[in-house]
Amino acid sequence: MQKSSDVSGMSQTNVFPFDNSYARLPERFYARVHPTHVAAPRLIRVNAPLARQLGLDPERLASPEGVAILSGNDVPTNADPIAMAYAGHQFGGFTPQLGDGRAILLGEVVDRDGARRDIHFKGSGPTPFSRNGDGRAALGPVLREYIISEAMAAFGIPTTRTLAAVATGEKVQRETMLPGAVLTRVAASHIRVGTFQFFAARQDIEGLRILADYSIARHYPESKDASNPYRAFLDAVITRQADLIAEWLLVGFIHGVMNTDNMTITGETIDYGPCAFMDAYDPQTVYSSNDRRGRYAYANQPVMAHWDLARLAEALLPLLSEDENDAMKEAQDAMEAFGPRFEAAYKMGLVRKLGLRDMQPKNVALAQDLLDRMAQNAADFTLTFRGLCTAVADAHDDAAVRTLFKDPTAYDAWAPLWRQRIAAEVFDPQACAAAMRQTNPAFIPRNHLVEEAISAAVHDGNLGSFESLLAVLSQPYQDQPEFERYAAPPRPDQVVHQTFCGT
Ligand code: AMP
Ligand code: MG
Repeated sequence: MQKSSDVSGMSQTNVFPFDNSYARLPERFYARVHPTHVAAPRLIRVNAPLARQLGLDPERLASPEGVAILSGNDVPTNADPIAMAYAGHQFGGFTPQLGDGRAILLGEVVDRDGARRDIHFKGSGPTPFSRNGDGRAALGPVLREYIISEAMAAFGIPTTRTLAAVATGEKVQRETMLPGAVLTRVAASHIRVGTFQFFAARQDIEGLRILADYSIARHYPESKDASNPYRAFLDAVITRQADLIAEWLLVGFIHGVMNTDNMTITGETIDYGPCAFMDAYDPQTVYSSNDRRGRYAYANQPVMAHWDLARLAEALLPLLSEDENDAMKEAQDAMEAFGPRFEAAYKMGLVRKLGLRDMQPKNVALAQDLLDRMAQNAADFTLTFRGLCTAVADAHDDAAVRTLFKDPTAYDAWAPLWRQRIAAEVFDPQACAAAMRQTNPAFIPRNHLVEEAISAAVHDGNLGSFESLLAVLSQPYQDQPEFERYAAPPRPDQVVHQTFCGT
């Protein structure tokens, strides 16, 4: 399509062809609010492939016209910016009103595949939900979200994406003064478990029903035809979350803040704060400085996801049945599906990581035995499984895997048992190795590399490491010998022990 220009030189086609639906829901679902002006916007990066997928022009987004929008300084006429209302349980305690305190939903676009996606700013200034916060984001956490969300997408794990990052030219006050930034987040939607809790807590059953009907129409249209659409909706969310948590565990991801306001109903990973990937395998790993009791420790994530989903089930009770007992029964029945669904997804994934196909107990026990030995020997999670991809076709390559174990004989005792199972199930070791390389990444966003990239950007204004890390992580399943440094675990002096949400 030819773009026409008016006398001012501005193209008359819209940078974002918005087609908003959430902003047409009743007023009590949000607050209408514009982003706050910033002093000196400077583009850090536009995600060109994602822009194209959304039907947007990356060059235009990177132009002064686009950067003015991405910084919040210019609100396109067809946008209808809102801060969404939601509630949430944070570390177990309920707050009936949280909401977008430093975020704004600019609008929705329909992407190349016909999927509706939110275009959402993080760090765009105060809103009526800000409480004591400044509504801003610091550059470090923005880059962190950019790197990790895009790595998750490259793994093939459902996630919100990052379309752009813009520096504001302003400082934000945290423990020290830090450079500010705005992140543009893209999501299937920003409806959270906490959004349902917002209406349930107010006993606003009409609002609850409108939200559920909207969610079904947008995300789970097939539920509409079920005998009990709200039960079908709950079942579908539970399924997606069970699958998601299994995928997290299988790449060693620790979210860090699995509060109900940080759990989407679409099954996309959201809210990249103190999240991190483990280096050495230890199921009790916690990185977040806020998570003092290990509520959201690596191995506790399925338990906490179940807990969060129980809060969704509770919020939906008034819709599940008019009869309170029946509603309770529906909710309980729905919740019972989480455990088996998660277990199946996780076990199947583990077995595949070993190059096996069959989820039979023998194979699952073999995988568990390896994990136990890895935990006892501080073996690197990513490198151990990646090493198996080579060792599967040639036992000589065991040498590289066994050295990852403090006591290499722990691996030596396990490897022959694995080879027996491989011999029984696998007929083409090369094909098996290739399949294993598609499920065992060579590269993860290792904490020390993420910190290094952030530090160079924040303190030296150098984006080189950030760009390299993004490039490597865009193909996490490819061996990239020239980037070997990025595959290596941290030296003892590089280990990051704690992460901070930085809000
Ligand atoms: P989070 O921990 O990022 O999930 O945020 C929890 C709540 O705190 C949400 O309601 C956020 O909008 C709000 N919040 C976080 N950081 C800020 C900030 N800098 N200014 C205002 N609100 C914030
Ligand atoms: Mg949040």
